[in-house]
Amino acid sequence: MAGAFWSTQAHLAGLSLAACASLVLIRPVSAQELDVARVFDERNIEPMRELYQQGEYERVAEIAKVFIERGQPSPEWWIFRLKACHDLGRVDELVQAANEAAQRHAKELPVLITCHEVLTAWGKKEEAAKILQQINTVAKGKPTSQRTARDMVALGRAALAAGADPQKVIQQFLDPAKKKEAKLKDTYLALGELALAKSDYARAANEFRDGLKHHDADPDLRYGLARAFQSSDRKKSMELVEQILQGNALHPGAHLLKAEHHINAEEYDEARLALEPAIEVNSNHPEGWGLRAVLSILQDNKPKDAEEARKQGLKLWAQNPAVDIIIGRSLSRGYRFKEAEEHLREALKLDPQSLSAKVHLCQALFRLGKEDEAWKVAKEVRDADGYNVQAYNIGLLEAEMKGFKVRETPDFVLKLPAKDDAVYGDRALELLTEAKQVLCAKYGLTLDHPVLVEFFPSQQDFAIRTFGNLGGQGILGACFGSVVTMNSPQGVASNRSNWEGTLWHEFCHVVTLTVTHNRMPRWLSEGISVYEESKRDPSWGMRMNASYRRMTLDEETLTPMSKMSRAFLSPKSSEHVMFAYYESSQAVDWLLKTYGEKKFQAVLKDLADGRRINEALARHCGKVEKLDEDFAKHMRKLAEAFAPKGDWEKPEREEVDPRNEAAIAEYLREHPNNLWALELRTRRLVAGEQWTEGLELAKRLIELAPDNAGENSGYHFAAQCFRGMKQTEGEAAMLREWAKRDGGAHEAFLRLVELDAAAKNWKGVSENVPKLLSIQPFLKQPYELMAQASETLGNKDAAVWALQKLIFLGPDHPVEVNFSLARLLREKDDAAAKRHLLDALAEAPRFRDGHKLLLELQSAKPAGKPPAVTPSVP
Ligand SMILES: [Zn+2]
Repeated sequence: MAGAFWSTQAHLAGLSLAACASLVLIRPVSAQELDVARVFDERNIEPMRELYQQGEYERVAEIAKVFIERGQPSPEWWIFRLKACHDLGRVDELVQAANEAAQRHAKELPVLITCHEVLTAWGKKEEAAKILQQINTVAKGKPTSQRTARDMVALGRAALAAGADPQKVIQQFLDPAKKKEAKLKDTYLALGELALAKSDYARAANEFRDGLKHHDADPDLRYGLARAFQSSDRKKSMELVEQILQGNALHPGAHLLKAEHHINAEEYDEARLALEPAIEVNSNHPEGWGLRAVLSILQDNKPKDAEEARKQGLKLWAQNPAVDIIIGRSLSRGYRFKEAEEHLREALKLDPQSLSAKVHLCQALFRLGKEDEAWKVAKEVRDADGYNVQAYNIGLLEAEMKGFKVRETPDFVLKLPAKDDAVYGDRALELLTEAKQVLCAKYGLTLDHPVLVEFFPSQQDFAIRTFGNLGGQGILGACFGSVVTMNSPQGVASNRSNWEGTLWHEFCHVVTLTVTHNRMPRWLSEGISVYEESKRDPSWGMRMNASYRRMTLDEETLTPMSKMSRAFLSPKSSEHVMFAYYESSQAVDWLLKTYGEKKFQAVLKDLADGRRINEALARHCGKVEKLDEDFAKHMRKLAEAFAPKGDWEKPEREEVDPRNEAAIAEYLREHPNNLWALELRTRRLVAGEQWTEGLELAKRLIELAPDNAGENSGYHFAAQCFRGMKQTEGEAAMLREWAKRDGGAHEAFLRLVELDAAAKNWKGVSENVPKLLSIQPFLKQPYELMAQASETLGNKDAAVWALQKLIFLGPDHPVEVNFSLARLLREKDDAAAKRHLLDALAEAPRFRDGHKLLLELQSAKPAGKPPAVTPSVP
């Protein structure tokens, strides 16, 4: 920049506008003067860009104005002026400048498109439409060969604004622009923003990233990328925001995004701080005030203040839908779906065409359980914009769900694929009914409307219904208050978890969210749900293990109760998320044990009244600092009580090489209670089928860590050793210990029912089959064994139930199953018995016992119509 008229910030700071004004060129200018002016422009546009990117909006607006007035020929000054006026919210000046710019640079496409965009942003529709017309005329008069890459991008943007097909725009303008000038930033910005507008976040991220390859630290591209990651990767999005703010501490978009992230993480004070700079730049910033309104609702519980803030946001343009959209969007993320719906409908009143409002409204409606309305809104978006990814996916989901079975009771609407319904639909309803009875009574809730519960066979469908986008891998279920969504246990996404425990957990959210009118911090809601899981079944819920022990004793990882939401909303890893669930459930357990049910319920009541959690805890349980301290102490005690006699040291690699068997054995001789060495050595012994030695160490593991269950526990290793030694009783005993502590131990349950059946322990079979089915209801073997066990134990209904499921799943021996059903049903349901018998005989026409039974059935007196059999789950 050497030699530029103003090249450094310091120089600029000293530049008085009066001095500039005195430099105004006197027309007509000579050719020589024009050259000088051009050289001046060439040298100064880049420093001006830097100034703009540093957030010096006022100065940019003023200097650009001065340069324009003194006749500097470059159209860039207009672009700078328009953008700065836009950022500052100087709408009147902007309209005037846009009109002038469109006259002075009537054929400059980049100037014209900037005019159009800033005018549109402030609702100046007529003026903007005129400019669009002008662009059209210019384009017609400018042969393709004369168009620069920037011209093409400008034309592409204009075409999009005029409603052209995005695919054609990309082919006709944006791709050729890229070809012509691969480095041009405008192209990446246009492509990225187009993808963002279509909710195609993956594509948007790719475009912005490609742009950043050419423009390393460009704030506009970074900002685009940060928005592309907004809902999928908070950490990355926040990192980008911080990078932008390092270069421009006033970047309004970055501050707004930061505030939104903080609001989502329930960090309201931080959000408030983040909003300040944006409002400093434009004291009437529509979205800045929109987010202030959100804080008035979520943090302060002051609806009047929220209304005032909203009004302030609408000051520059009373019909601006952006204010209500950002309020609605943020409230929806904060689980305040009803209010979100109201704001999004308000946005649509102001601008009935706003697709952004419709997309967010669709999500809010889904979460409120208003599916029919949501499908309709999604269709409106699709009809207006065939490229909107979210609306498109919702269309696919709608088609898929048309085939779902719907069961309606006064309390529940259950929607699930027909196959799921046949296999576990009755069990799901039974469990939900029980959950409603138990939990509503406990939390003093009268649920006066049915709860919508849906199961999805594919993770994608679950994600689209739950989050609006793909993603959310590893999440088993979700709850929004009156809506529960679940991954079907037949899908891989269920990951062999206990779906019954998950359903209980999600329904518990229904209760606590309803009781608090959705005014509940995430951690408390999760904590209660996990806690209630373990109250319903001690093998559900979560228990201390080696990794939680380590995390509890690490001061950095154990989150103070007063900051627990953060542990969920900005976790470091998936292990940290799991730990947050565990810690929250322990917090609930501790609060209940220490302060009692009554005070705990009073805290929930306070939340319902709009108090913040820490205030409510302080009112009923004690000062937050003290609670944090006492709870941390309690957690440490819990951790220390887990395998207290165990030696938890993990030796360095140099001390013991984990690959060296002899070294581990030697270390174990010297440190017989070392859990790390014990586990490693036992696993290796088991793998090497050294059963006797393995069993000895497994027993020591059990002795040291009796509460530890799972694949790496002494119980599992010991069971494997007993199995190797063909000592089935010992094996079953160990598996029972494991299963007792781990409701998701499908391997243990599977083997247990096998062993019990072989030992004719029918009671054991009938106890463990339902547990196995609560993990994998689509296996056939458990139903076979259940039928056998139930019949032997004289429980005909349960046997019929199991055989009917088996018929549905396609039994390996259909003749036998049909015959058994005929036999079992003959007294209760003659017609059904005959049907099954005929099915059996159709497959095996010479089946003697079948013929015999048929004769018996035919000779029996025709009875009155029997009641339909609806056997319950054993
Ligand atoms: Zn949950």
